Amino acid sequence: MADLSKGCFSALLPTLRRNKRKGAAPPPPYNSTLVIASKEQVKTAHLRFQPGCACALDGPADFAYAPEETWWRDDKLPPYIGGLEAPTPSFVQTVNDVLDGLDSELRELSLQIHSHPELGYKERFAHDTLTTFMAKHGFTVTKHYLGLDTAWRAEYTHIGGGRVLGINAEMDALPLGHACGHNLIAMSGAGVAVAVKSALETHNIPGKIVILGTPAEEGGGGKVLLLERGAYEGMDACIMSHPTVGPPHTANVGSTNARYGFQVDYEGHSAHAAASPWEGTNALDAAFMAYAGVSALRQQMKPTYRVHGIIVGREEWTPNVIPDHATMRWNVRAPTKEEASDLAERVKNCFHGAALATGCKIAIKEDIPYYDLQNDEGLGDAFTEIAQQYYGLAVGTQGTSASTDFGNISQALPSLHPTYAIPAERGNHTPEFAEAAATLAAHAAAMRVTKALAVFGVKFLQKEVAVIPKKRLT
Ligand SMILES: [Zn+2]
Ligand SMILES: [Zn+2]
Repeated sequence: MADLSKGCFSALLPTLRRNKRKGAAPPPPYNSTLVIASKEQVKTAHLRFQPGCACALDGPADFAYAPEETWWRDDKLPPYIGGLEAPTPSFVQTVNDVLDGLDSELRELSLQIHSHPELGYKERFAHDTLTTFMAKHGFTVTKHYLGLDTAWRAEYTHIGGGRVLGINAEMDALPLGHACGHNLIAMSGAGVAVAVKSALETHNIPGKIVILGTPAEEGGGGKVLLLERGAYEGMDACIMSHPTVGPPHTANVGSTNARYGFQVDYEGHSAHAAASPWEGTNALDAAFMAYAGVSALRQQMKPTYRVHGIIVGREEWTPNVIPDHATMRWNVRAPTKEEASDLAERVKNCFHGAALATGCKIAIKEDIPYYDLQNDEGLGDAFTEIAQQYYGLAVGTQGTSASTDFGNISQALPSLHPTYAIPAERGNHTPEFAEAAATLAAHAAAMRVTKALAVFGVKFLQKEVAVIPKKRLT
């Protein structure tokens, strides 16, 4: 067991060491008993998880390097699975049977999207593939939803008057491919919707399912635009899941950081860099001074804050001309939208200071802010119980420093956004994670969470999960 009294970072050391010796020795053979929490450990897991800590459960920290074929072992599920006294409801079997029957079709759906990575608001292949899938499975589909070319909606009602379950399916990729695993999110959302539909029909449960294809999570705030345009009206709750790295058989219902994004443009004046540099106003200098200013500010920031940016190069830049234009892009993150907003003001002062120092004009364009994710506690508890009891997942409440536009949804209506571990050599937004998002082991992990979310969805529509409506923010 990792000794947490030494601080969370100690548990990361084996990972760091392995990174250093990458390619040298193979990882030790996988032994599930080392990394799977016991029922008792899981019960007390909330006490052991520490905010900002990278270690989720006791055990070897280089969990991510277990070979794919041994990372997920159905024959090595934790001992507490199915350990509760109450008999398993029959709709759980329905969900399992439907999703087992759909497994190869869902795998194909995920791989198709994975092999056609598309940036935000350009998810045309994913839009067409997913709407075809939903229509085939009996949903009423609206393409190009609410004026967004790649957004879509699919719905199904069994007996009117029941609750409405919302589901989100993200689709967009990064320039380096599906490095955030949104192919798994889309596949899982579609799987949850079809499994819940079958359970409603088989067990004659009233309820409505609304699944939204949500574009541009990696920047562009697709869900925020859909929220503003009324796509979430009428939903009693909204759910989705997201892959990440971590020990096998683990998930988390933690928070994410809020995020403010900026594009900063400096306008100066070009000049011959050797013959008459005094005639120039150097926009690239402004960008570098802003970068240095933020770097100095970082020393006074809380450890939970994140500020990261890039300078966008230009074709016409050349060393013997003073650059007359420079563009930067920045993200500012903190655990709440209020903190992120305050931090953003301090960061903007660095931008303005650099403009003043160099004499450049400055223009700042703000992205759609992403709010911090607030998983509904009641929904989180219900999911945790289901995931642990029926699917052998150890569910914690660890958050992440990353951000999502689902944060805005979570502050407008009761929401649930579990993250879950897939085997990857490196975390989200790396080529290694993009590769991992297409593996069978990642699919197995996603399917396990899909089943848990579908069972959750049926229980929710049966009103076995209490929910307190939120006051809408938009
Ligand atoms: Zn993502
Ligand atoms: Zn991402």
